[in-house]
Amino acid sequence: MSERLVTLRHDQLCDLCHRKIPAGEKAYLVRDDFWPMDVRFEHRGGCPESRTAENTGEKNTTSRQ
Ligand SMILES: [Zn+2]
Repeated sequence: MSERLVTLRHDQLCDLCHRKIPAGEKAYLVRDDFWPMDVRFEHRGGCPESRTAENTGEKNTTSRQ
């Protein structure tokens, strides 16, 4: 498995939480070394679900890397 940070050109679904990652966002592109055609995307810095658990309803402006 190899992953790198990319800027999305199209909307993608996060493989972990299955939520949409909108185009223009940065996300991790995860590729299986044995099956290079199979690429997946993951939210950068954790999925929104786990983020909102700390701070429900509020917009969190602090950026987590
Ligand atoms: Zn996610």
